[in-house]
Amino acid sequence: MAGPVKRIPRVALPPDVRPDTLAVREGLPATAWGENSEALFLTSSFVQPDAATAAARFANEEEAFTYSRFTNPTVMMFERRLAALEGTEAAIATASGMSAILLLGLALLKAGDHVVCSQSVFGSTLVLFGREFAKFGVETTFVSQTDVEAWRQAVRPNTRLLFAESPTNPLTEVCDIGALADIAHQAGALLAVDNCFCSPALQRPREYGADLIVHSGTKYLDGQGRVLAGAVCGPEALINERFVPVMRSAGISLSPFNAWVVLKGLETLSIRMAAQSQRAHELAMWLEAQPGVERVFYPGLASHPQHALAMAQQGGSGGAVLSFVVRAPDAEAARRNAFHVIDQTQVCSITANLGDTKTTITHPASTSHGRLTEAQRQSAGIVQGLIRVAVGLEDVRDLKADLQRGLDTL
Ligand SMILES: *Cc1c(COP(=O)(O)O)cnc(C)c1O
Repeated sequence: MAGPVKRIPRVALPPDVRPDTLAVREGLPATAWGENSEALFLTSSFVQPDAATAAARFANEEEAFTYSRFTNPTVMMFERRLAALEGTEAAIATASGMSAILLLGLALLKAGDHVVCSQSVFGSTLVLFGREFAKFGVETTFVSQTDVEAWRQAVRPNTRLLFAESPTNPLTEVCDIGALADIAHQAGALLAVDNCFCSPALQRPREYGADLIVHSGTKYLDGQGRVLAGAVCGPEALINERFVPVMRSAGISLSPFNAWVVLKGLETLSIRMAAQSQRAHELAMWLEAQPGVERVFYPGLASHPQHALAMAQQGGSGGAVLSFVVRAPDAEAARRNAFHVIDQTQVCSITANLGDTKTTITHPASTSHGRLTEAQRQSAGIVQGLIRVAVGLEDVRDLKADLQRGLDTL
């Protein structure tokens, strides 16, 4: 099958420009009007010059825009820009991060296939692999994120896909992407990595051998908590042959408006990630020294179990998400203390989203992981005293004061 409009011209840029330049420049050439800011094409369909041309275009014999469920110029600008940042040949945009993972499953898996997945991935991802894909005869084995041997042993002759996320939410567990890529490739399977927490500004899984990179554009790619978006990045042939036909039928397409918002978000991605990560690191070090805090989870700290791996894989950055456990004699007191610290904040937003320039604070045990049983939470390390902070762009002194108010009054 012919690819999706890849002959539509690219922006004229020198071949060796670097990611920060691509982040603001990659896309489509301006229209005849010469707009400097990328146009928002809010149109569901595209007019064809005559019936014969329309027939050729719908048969994929000639590449052009036909209908926005297939693709759209603004959506394509986002896809090209994200692929350039991830260092992959192509990307396909989806309505949300979860629809990117749904598309991945629909495109790559069939009844009788087997998947190996980290047990610490995003909650809805666990449900998608563990329950929804299982309905269609795809079996998934969940393994410890950090135990490379467990991944190796879980592989079977019918394993088609390994799926990981690094670092994970909320305990910031880091997996060795290169080691997982080797295991996948030895088995003739593909490795997909959810790169939501680091974004390509800090971590490019392709460089470590990942075949496909999945994104929730809702988080750092947008960066201001405005829209839902998602994407799968990977080799052009694989995207065109396996993903594009599914997208055309399944219709989990990204809205042009949302694509336009996230496209503009990408322009500031690297400076936001650097500034937010730097604040997170400072806050993590400060939290580690607080008497009311029992433990801090942040890949940038020397105390993090995969600190060295994280630093190598994430360009020397710990990312912008951290979590910590408040001190308490028992689980009931821990929950009370965690609620107290959260309720004393006046700057942080109490919300489960992340990736926003506004710092968010959340109690995972009663929100994102609230549907698990207490035993499941215990084995996942989601204790009642745990608080997650996704650090934004506020002055870090104000964030420390915000948390100190609660920690000092426990
Ligand atoms: C939020 C998130 C998703 C899901 O993305 P949506 O855009 O909300 O559908 C998937 N993976 C990770 C790691 C996330 O944080």
